[in-house]
Amino acid sequence: MTQVTVKELAQVVDTPVERLLQQMREAGLPHTAADQVVTDSEKQALLTYLKRSHGDKLEEPRKITLQRKTTSTLKLGGSKTISVEVRKKKTFVKRSAEELEAERRRELEEQQRAAEEAARKAAEEEAARKAAEEEAARKAAAEAAAAAAQAAQQAQAADEPAPVVETAPAAAPVAERKKEEPRRPERARGVEDERRVDRKNSAHRSSLKDKNPAPRVSVRNVDEDAEGFRRGGGRGKPKLKKRNQHGFQNPTGPIVREVSIGETITVAELAQQMAVKAADVVKFMFKLGSPVTINQVLDQETAQLVAEEFGHKVKLISENALEEQLAESLKFEGGETVPRAPVVTVMGHVDHGKTSLLDYIRRTKVAAGEAGGITQHIGAYHVETDRGMVTFLDTPGHAAFTAMRARGAKATDIVILVVAADDGVMPQTEEAVQHAKAAGVPIVVAVNKIDKPEANPDNIKNGLAALDVIPEEWGGDTQFVHVSAKVGTGIDELLEAVLLQAEVLELKATPSAPGRGVVIESRLDKGRGPVATVLVQDGTLRQGDMALVGSNYGRIRAMLDENGKQIKEAGPSIPVEILGLDGTPDAGDELTVVADERKAREVALFRQGKYREVKLARQQSAKLENIFESMGQDEKKTLNIVLKTDVRGTLEALQSSLATLGNDEVQVRVIGGGVGGITESDANLALASNAVLFGFNVRADAGARKIVEQEGLDMRYYNVIYDIIDDVKKALTGMLGSDVRENILGVAEVRDVFRSPKFGAIAGCMVIEGTVYRNRPIRVLRDDVVIFEGELESLRRFKDDVAEVRSGMECGIGVKSYNDVQVGDKIEVYEKVQVARSL
Ligand code: GDP
Repeated sequence: MTQVTVKELAQVVDTPVERLLQQMREAGLPHTAADQVVTDSEKQALLTYLKRSHGDKLEEPRKITLQRKTTSTLKLGGSKTISVEVRKKKTFVKRSAEELEAERRRELEEQQRAAEEAARKAAEEEAARKAAEEEAARKAAAEAAAAAAQAAQQAQAADEPAPVVETAPAAAPVAERKKEEPRRPERARGVEDERRVDRKNSAHRSSLKDKNPAPRVSVRNVDEDAEGFRRGGGRGKPKLKKRNQHGFQNPTGPIVREVSIGETITVAELAQQMAVKAADVVKFMFKLGSPVTINQVLDQETAQLVAEEFGHKVKLISENALEEQLAESLKFEGGETVPRAPVVTVMGHVDHGKTSLLDYIRRTKVAAGEAGGITQHIGAYHVETDRGMVTFLDTPGHAAFTAMRARGAKATDIVILVVAADDGVMPQTEEAVQHAKAAGVPIVVAVNKIDKPEANPDNIKNGLAALDVIPEEWGGDTQFVHVSAKVGTGIDELLEAVLLQAEVLELKATPSAPGRGVVIESRLDKGRGPVATVLVQDGTLRQGDMALVGSNYGRIRAMLDENGKQIKEAGPSIPVEILGLDGTPDAGDELTVVADERKAREVALFRQGKYREVKLARQQSAKLENIFESMGQDEKKTLNIVLKTDVRGTLEALQSSLATLGNDEVQVRVIGGGVGGITESDANLALASNAVLFGFNVRADAGARKIVEQEGLDMRYYNVIYDIIDDVKKALTGMLGSDVRENILGVAEVRDVFRSPKFGAIAGCMVIEGTVYRNRPIRVLRDDVVIFEGELESLRRFKDDVAEVRSGMECGIGVKSYNDVQVGDKIEVYEKVQVARSL
């Protein structure tokens, strides 16, 4: 080591020369002038002196750091709070004092060597060399730290920059780093550990500290350092800087967190709530046998399992929290409420003039003044009259109406029921009445074709009165208007009647609110992408709004009115086409304008997942078996039935018998009924009204079957009146369950009929569904109505008799003692199965 003069030494340790000289004198050294040389041993003597002199004042080794305590509150899971006490430590290091550092280092090295030797001996004794080494390291670290602490503390305590002392803290780490590479991070970890313990039991810790100041803390820290090392603290590069920075380490004691799990949660979110790495959750899931990715969405049950396995408490969030939040955010207070135009749907029997009426109104009222006329057909339009505006949903037919209602949307305020005066009340007229009544929508009757000489409007009044649609002049509340869609008679009166009805309804809207509406129809346009026709029901919809539509969302890129003209905004009761959604929503889906895309996406995704469950839930509640249970649950004591029969007589007989089945608590309501097969419209009505579907000697058509299947409706076929009554009785008392039900195995369609001298009529068939079996009972259906029941005489493929024929194959079928088979008939093969009680 190079020798230095007193002056140089004073500079190095940043002390006035005089003061240093005085200290040297007190230490018994001969130096009197600034330019005298100080040898190593002299420096050592000075250090020893200073140590001793300060040691008188401070009997024990001191800490190396300054601490600053901060206390903060950490919120966990919204409800839980934890006080976190963080102690920041600052170590003062003087790097320029190289020589002193080196000197100090040497001293420490010696100490360490001695410690290691001691450790080695211990290792021999314990025959566990590795463990001993760690022990030694720990010990050495303890000593080194203690020594360093002592020196540093001297500097602090003396409150003077004594040269030797000040450099000590820097020297200690250097020594450690040199000797025991991986131990460096542990020193930082010591700080962290202390912090961790503080958090766990800060009260205890602080009291401990008060009573036993530096030394105990210091020693304990070092002990914990070694712990940290064993836990894998050797990982990573030792960084000196780290020690004074904040760092977080997994607590050793488990912290039970409250994990909020909604209906679904992503792996990443779940991990975050549990304060573990997402990779750990992935690993855990993998062990469970289901490999997931970080962004994968877990269902509530799985997430709960994971969270509980990790030792946390689970808080299941209400299924609809997101929707509730959304509804809350959509609440709009204030804003002027103004009357809005009524929205009208035209219904009626086929060929009674629905299309003609809508066309006439559009032609005469909308096109007027529009230069280009109608360029676009968007399924809805509005007309201005002297008395106000009327919006027409241009989707004649009941299916659209009920399909929308089935989804819980109420777009229509008023139904115009078109009845041809030359024809009278027909099955679909009746159906329309049923649908309107089920939806609670008032009817205005348009008695059409009044221009025809054979028109008989009174006949219609009679017919409708029988359906409980009573004309005003007979003391009822339904307006009847005589119109001709062909020549235009009475159209203005009809509109007036509609507006009058609207006034009674007191329809209101708030134009200043954010737009809200319902989807009327949607399609995928080749050039423009998803296009949805939306009826604005409240507020104002604007171009650029972020729209959440059912389980779709998107920013409204463009808006077109019913004439295909670009518009910037649309108020209440105005139908518009919107572009910019990410998919085609369903008719009846609700549109809401939300603040930001994130929210829109979140809810849309939620709904996509939810849709499945809604369907499942419906499958539960719409079953006849469950009617009793659900009645008990929500006090809804009505069993709704949609009933179709083969003949009118049966329908009436059944309607009256079923109606008498009710008692004080339960009521049976046949909300829809008619003659003929079960159609899509029937299925929709059942769906909308939470009803069960009964087919008496009739079957469902393809459209109806699709809805029944998709929505899980309960549809039952019967051929004995008593069975229907019996089942309903049982359902009402909760006794229904164990039951013989028919299972349709296959259906063959008759494509051709041959005459065989041996078998009589042979039906050349194509199996269109399932499998046709030779030995099962069959029924012959014509227009979905059962016309014959019996069994097969023969089943052949080409020339061979076969036991079964599968879907998509042709076959020849001979029906025993039935020769009246016709092309287009269906032969249904069924079996009777015992259905286990499902209650
Ligand atoms: P929809 O099936 O109910 O839509 O009935 P359409 O509108 O297609 O009308 C069926 C037929 O009745 C068409 O041939 C129309 O021309 C005719 N029609 C409709 N309204 C009137 C009317 O007011 N007077 C006369 N004479 N014929 C009409």
